[in-house]
Amino acid sequence: MGTLLLTHPASLLHDMGAGHPECPERIKAVFERLEREEFQALLREEAPLATAEQMMRVHPERFIQALEQSAPHQGRVRIDDDTLMNPGTWPAAQRAAGGGIAAVDAVLQGRADKAFVAMRPPGHHAGRETAMGFCFLNNVAIAARHAMAAHGAERVAIVDFDVHHGNGTQEIFYHDRHVLYCSTHEMPLFPGTGMPEDTGLHDQICNVAMHAGDDGRAIREAFRQIVLPRVHNFAPDLILLSAGFDAHKFDPLANLELEADDFYWMTGKLCDLAAHHCHDRVVSFLEGGYDLEGLADSASAHVRALMGR
Ligand SMILES: [Zn+2]
Repeated sequence: MGTLLLTHPASLLHDMGAGHPECPERIKAVFERLEREEFQALLREEAPLATAEQMMRVHPERFIQALEQSAPHQGRVRIDDDTLMNPGTWPAAQRAAGGGIAAVDAVLQGRADKAFVAMRPPGHHAGRETAMGFCFLNNVAIAARHAMAAHGAERVAIVDFDVHHGNGTQEIFYHDRHVLYCSTHEMPLFPGTGMPEDTGLHDQICNVAMHAGDDGRAIREAFRQIVLPRVHNFAPDLILLSAGFDAHKFDPLANLELEADDFYWMTGKLCDLAAHHCHDRVVSFLEGGYDLEGLADSASAHVRALMGR
């Protein structure tokens, strides 16, 4: 079986304005890199729209309707200081969530063993009723709930190595014993959450604070000491990744010093756990990453590791 890549041109039409770091050029850089010869073996599908029912497993109907109604016919509407909607935002958000649904379906039905959802907007800051931090719908959370509701998954591990804490994902699963949420993130940094003392109602939230200047050695140590054992002990039947690449040393929004090879290593270790526990099943979601070169290098290293190369 192979690795599935979910994309859609709608990802290019969500545009928060000139100079905004979460820009269409990000996805363009990732698409272009994944066109190279070494990625020809990827299975490729277009991301469908998530349905209301699928979104409503995470977000209340009133929130979804409010987002849909906020979407402007022209120009831009500000949702928070750095989160804006243009006419392309809502279709892109629905397809970013829908790409995760399709990826989970493919992996849990055995049509692929790994999948990478190369879509934007990202999702891990979106709470049940809060769009913030460049995020509207929580794509990885919608995928986790879909795996449980539609495929009977009972233990879903979400590993989030974006440099920011996934406050939205933590909020959504804070009381859910069926989901392990494990995050490495720089502190202090936006959004300010992710204290190691926050462990969830069933001790299934695991926050690992990294600090400005930490490099690949530090993150590998955190993975060896904390993240990998936690995922192993949870014995998941599916592993989802919030794959942000803004811990890269070139990233303008954060201060960690990772290199593409570190993302390759982390991904490989998580794939080893997936081989041990859950028939290789890993679905990864693009989150942040704002230096175009660092993003393309890191995301392609990540996909290479998913492909087992
Ligand atoms: Zn981030």
